[in-house]
Amino acid sequence: MSPQEAAELLGVKASTLYTWAYRRQIPAQKIGRLLRFSPSALNEWLRAQARPPEQSDPDRWIGVSDQPTCERCGRLPADCDRDAALCVSRA
Ligand SMILES: [Zn+2]
Repeated sequence: MSPQEAAELLGVKASTLYTWAYRRQIPAQKIGRLLRFSPSALNEWLRAQARPPEQSDPDRWIGVSDQPTCERCGRLPADCDRDAALCVSRA
């Protein structure tokens, strides 16, 4: 598949994909001057990247910026009780 299709599959920008390919961080094939990607190789690569975090180190994930927040008050679930006045008071 083309770099554009591969980028879409992985959810990254094509420019990011080119960088990875030239650094050999991702499986890519060169056909003449063109980069081509194999869907099966990409899926395998993707699985390798998606290894679950070490179970012994849960603290790693505390403070990660993209964890889900309460849709009412915008706070992290740990700071919010959806049934309490605390939550709606900030909404
Ligand atoms: Zn809330």
